[in-house]
Amino acid sequence: MSSSLETRLFINNEASEFVESKSERTYKLFNPATDEFVADVHQAGAQDVDAAVAAAEAAFPAWRDTPVHIKAAMFGKLSLLIKQSKEELWDLERMAMGRTFGFAHFEVMGCAGIMEQHANIALHIQGRSSLNTPGMITFTLKQPFGVVAGILPWNVSLIMFAMKTAPALATGNCVVIKSSEKSPLGVLKLAALFKEAGFPPGVLSVVTGTGPTTGSLIASHMKIRKVAFTGSIATGKKIMAAAANSNLKNVTLELGGKSPAIIFGDADIQKAAHAVEMSIHLNSGQHCQANSRVFVHESIVDEFSQTLVKLMTSRSIGDPSDKSVFQGPQGDKIQKDRIVSILEQGKDDGKVLCGGKAANVNGKGNFIEPTVIGDVADASILATEEIFGPVVILNTFKTDEEALKRANNTEFGLYSSLYTKDVERALEFATFLEAGAVGLNCSAPTQAMDMPVSGWKQSGIGSEMHMYGVENYLQTKAVYMKYKDVPIH
Ligand code: NAD
Repeated sequence: MSSSLETRLFINNEASEFVESKSERTYKLFNPATDEFVADVHQAGAQDVDAAVAAAEAAFPAWRDTPVHIKAAMFGKLSLLIKQSKEELWDLERMAMGRTFGFAHFEVMGCAGIMEQHANIALHIQGRSSLNTPGMITFTLKQPFGVVAGILPWNVSLIMFAMKTAPALATGNCVVIKSSEKSPLGVLKLAALFKEAGFPPGVLSVVTGTGPTTGSLIASHMKIRKVAFTGSIATGKKIMAAAANSNLKNVTLELGGKSPAIIFGDADIQKAAHAVEMSIHLNSGQHCQANSRVFVHESIVDEFSQTLVKLMTSRSIGDPSDKSVFQGPQGDKIQKDRIVSILEQGKDDGKVLCGGKAANVNGKGNFIEPTVIGDVADASILATEEIFGPVVILNTFKTDEEALKRANNTEFGLYSSLYTKDVERALEFATFLEAGAVGLNCSAPTQAMDMPVSGWKQSGIGSEMHMYGVENYLQTKAVYMKYKDVPIH
């Protein structure tokens, strides 16, 4: 292991910043661009998770009662430190995940922005009062849960870390984070920055480890009152079951997607193709809102598909240690092999317009060719499975009704995009597309970090970000204040 890499746990950062796992177990991390060994990472066991929860419990009363302006100053300093650490955070995410410099910039600035955005958000938390009951004034309080947890995916770890910690801490909760076992390095660095920004011991702990061990210990922990999870639908269901079978903890789920983009005949074809390409190609297609299913009006399909293929195949692919590289590897060998297997299973279900297999980059690493597949049957695995790679399917439609029906023909409901100059059509589709977000003439990801993320259907439960997300870290209490005896009506 490289001696400069921090791979221990961040628990109750008072005595010593990072601690070794009491389980005495570690797991190995490999660079997905080069297959080289990166580090042995500590695997948190039951004693470690209990220690993190105990530290959070101890820190909670003082943190809950810390005035908002003092919390805000910490968030402000943290945001600055995150921006100043951009190169280091990129390097850590690059080693573990193959993150490109361009995407790391987006991620680091998003992470810092979310911290800043939540600095004063507690000022907007309000209960309600009423005079409706004779002899009584009643009001509601919004109060933190106490100890909450966040379980993170690997694909955009830094932004996910911010989305879990910022609202939890801004509302007075203390939080235990489990990083994905695949991307612990950047998250551990962020934990160290929390300490530097002045956050007191115990308000944040970060444990690393695999899902079935560390993750399930958190999901079933009796003293954690809420868990916010981002990851796959399969794991989301397990977490919900573990929460139900333990202490019925509150659960927020942000899960997978198979997001459609509908390109109407009146769309600006060049702009639409460019936006769709960025959506499916950024971060090697590994983001939940990527436009992976494209429906193009038959009148413009030739120009659109030619433009899309040209854009997809014009980008540089390689080891992201070269800052100019646009497409890095998939997150690890498991992800690459899974994509290759899906492409193989669906090879007779459509017409490959470009790509379609693993990419050879100096005979090393886990790369996928940028892939566009046309005329794919709606029932094909290519159309139904979240592929999570630079793979887009492209189908044609004739009528608006057909486009809406096929776009909604999925169990996912995370994000939908449509491209048209017709405002009435845009508003009608925005109303009837079954998704937690709709992009009109734009695709995700966008710079708009101040909007809620909400998965419909099997893409999730609840919202993150915005006041909708903040509210999910608060419990409602009714208070009854009597000033006079009145007869019961
Ligand atoms: P994953 O479900 O494999 O793992 C996510 C996390 O859950 C990891 O930390 C893992 O260790 C943990 N985990 C696994 N099994 C567990 C268990 N039994 N109990 C508790 N924890 C467990 O997902 P992933 O591969 O890391 O992430 C990719 C997925 O995340 C994709 O489906 C993507 O669409 C989704 N995602 C969704 C959003 C969103 O906002 N909706 C954002 C990013 C990623």
